[in-house]
Amino acid sequence: MFQTGDARLPAVPRTRILATIGPATLSEEAIRGLLAAGADAFRINFSHGDDDQHRLIVERARKVASAVGRSVTLVADLQGPKHRLGELRPEVWTLSAGEKIELRESKGPSDPPALPVDVEGFLKVLRPRQQVLLGDAALELLVEEVDKTRAVVRVVQGGNISSHQGVYFPGSTLRSEVLGKKDLQDLKLAVEEEVDWVALSFVASAADLRLARAHLKNLAPDRPPYLLAKIERAEALRNQVGILEESDGIMVARGDLGIEVPLASLAMVQKELVTAARRAAKPCVVATQMLLSMVKAPRPTRAEATDVANAVLDGADALMLSEETAVGEHPQEAVRFLAEIAEATEPALWRSPGGSFLGKEGELAGSELHGEEGAVAEAAVRLAARIGARAIVVPTHSGRTARLVARLRPKPPLLVLTSQAATQAAVGLLWGVRSRGVPAKLPLDGLREAARTAGIEELHLARGDRVVLTAGYPLEGRPTNLLNVVEI
Ligand code: PEP
Repeated sequence: MFQTGDARLPAVPRTRILATIGPATLSEEAIRGLLAAGADAFRINFSHGDDDQHRLIVERARKVASAVGRSVTLVADLQGPKHRLGELRPEVWTLSAGEKIELRESKGPSDPPALPVDVEGFLKVLRPRQQVLLGDAALELLVEEVDKTRAVVRVVQGGNISSHQGVYFPGSTLRSEVLGKKDLQDLKLAVEEEVDWVALSFVASAADLRLARAHLKNLAPDRPPYLLAKIERAEALRNQVGILEESDGIMVARGDLGIEVPLASLAMVQKELVTAARRAAKPCVVATQMLLSMVKAPRPTRAEATDVANAVLDGADALMLSEETAVGEHPQEAVRFLAEIAEATEPALWRSPGGSFLGKEGELAGSELHGEEGAVAEAAVRLAARIGARAIVVPTHSGRTARLVARLRPKPPLLVLTSQAATQAAVGLLWGVRSRGVPAKLPLDGLREAARTAGIEELHLARGDRVVLTAGYPLEGRPTNLLNVVEI
């Protein structure tokens, strides 16, 4: 339940939690635990696991969510053209500085010292004295010799490495399509399983999104999934305006981004991207290493707790957990900490005089959505604060009005009413929104009645409580133009 400042209601954070399902959380019981701890959405990471496992995750997530009367948003995260190691035997190798190993083009499984590199043609572009990075670039190798079958490398910075982790060839000319053969197969599976969002890895420009959109329209003309652009290349940062225009949301994929931009700049890049997404009224997920120490430890570090809070203050719609929930020892506790930190931090968003994030409205000035409909959404938030409304109810067809209101981060809960299943799924990554299905083409009286019912059933509102209703009316294709107060 949402925190409404009303002691009758237990609180939940507005910041959405996207948890990766993996070997540690495949069971129905574990998935139920993640939902109970506060997860709103699940990520299926197509860089790991096989088709059967991916289908199993979708089936179980839906089954468990419906058993507890919840809707859950599913995100299929495609591997993309990331260069990865093949399968290692044993699963984890420890490399020590000074040690010599070989790189071979192979999917594995391979035993030491032949490290399998699952990248076609990489030996052709490697040169002696070139640097190779592994994992999240924590391990460094230096090429000593290279021929057609192998490269001999010396370990400069050692550490642990496991199957399918990233491998980077800084400065190399290796390039790949944003959707490789595997991604296209995975895209088909994602569409067959009717996942809600597809996350596209290593996007470089708006053209990559147009290509993915075309594939999705072919595969699912009636209800293509929404597209989340993972920003993890320096090139994508340069092209962020076009990428935001062509995508339905973005992810600040800090793992790979932290290799492409200097680590010292990562925090500022995150702030820039979160603000850009809010200006465009599209959801922004902040991802990677949010609570990484919790893979082993039952509590986060001080730095992690602070990082999570800062992402909330930056204005992120959603925070993502990767290894923490996929392979960690404390997946539910990780979700719970994320929820607790978000909840403890969010009131700071509402300290401005408007009782919302409007204190930062200067950031939105000049955005394409700052015109008439943006002003109606703003008026809804101000009106709600002025009259102490218990909720802002947003009937919507495409979700546009919900995005316009959510980007202002208002204090009252946002209740989206929609006849569109796809819209319900899309708003699952949107800050502070809970959604509910309603019949199509309701007249204004019907919408007011639906707002009352939703307020009572979803938020336990009582007679005399007031909610603000805002929409683009009639619902299909109109800009946000309606503002009403509805009394329960
Ligand atoms: C990242 O790089 O931060 C990320 C989310 O991508 P992946 O985990 O798929 O490498």
